[in-house]
Amino acid sequence: MSLQENIQAVQARIAAAAREVGRDPAEVTLVAATKVQSSDTIRQAIAAGVTICGENRVQEMTAHLDDDAYAGAALHFIGHLQTNKVRQVVGRVDLIESVGSEHLLDAIEAQAAKLDLRQDILLEVNIGGEQSKSGVAPEQLLALAQKAAACPHVRLRGLMAIPPVASGLDGNRPFFAKMHQLYVDIRTNLNDNKADIDCLSMGMSGDFEDAVREGATLVRVGTALFGPRPPMHKG
Ligand SMILES: *Cc1c(COP(=O)(O)O)cnc(C)c1O
Repeated sequence: MSLQENIQAVQARIAAAAREVGRDPAEVTLVAATKVQSSDTIRQAIAAGVTICGENRVQEMTAHLDDDAYAGAALHFIGHLQTNKVRQVVGRVDLIESVGSEHLLDAIEAQAAKLDLRQDILLEVNIGGEQSKSGVAPEQLLALAQKAAACPHVRLRGLMAIPPVASGLDGNRPFFAKMHQLYVDIRTNLNDNKADIDCLSMGMSGDFEDAVREGATLVRVGTALFGPRPPMHKG
């Protein structure tokens, strides 16, 4: 299948999963996880209907930005962000999806203040409680969200998660359901009357339909669009 056919097939699966649970398919947006793809492939994906690109490596992203590869699409940073690379990301992306610590939040606020802009962010939740994964523990989420909401140069837009590798019959669906509950709780607790909080980013190639069934508004899909990545790559 061509890239265009893959994109259409994934879009159709997103829409079907949304309708299954009575959601409007327009509530869910595909984020193309473009890591290791060339600038040309990224341009082709955008020409074929991708509206958001997600990058998880600062160096690759910077090279593609220099190439103007993302023209016509929004850009999200979805990978682990080290504080020493914050300067290369703040103000250059529409949304930083992967803010999982107070330390990183502080660094983003400081850089956004310096640039006199407001950076949209999501808080990454370590929903599986895995030691190897970054993200804030669910028990500490509210405190971090309150802090983010009080940062004048940050706009908290919602939550993101990368659940454990699926196992069992239900796969990651219980984690997605928990994430949705946290998302609802945060909106309630922060008294989000401006409705800034409108993003729940979860689901990848293997499980995005379940994520949509449980309320995802953003799904981050790489392999199902572009095919398998080289094996030495660590996501
Ligand atoms: C690579 C990546 C994805 C997409 O993974 P696939 O399994 O290839 O769809 C999603 N989220 C993040 C953070 C990633 O780095």
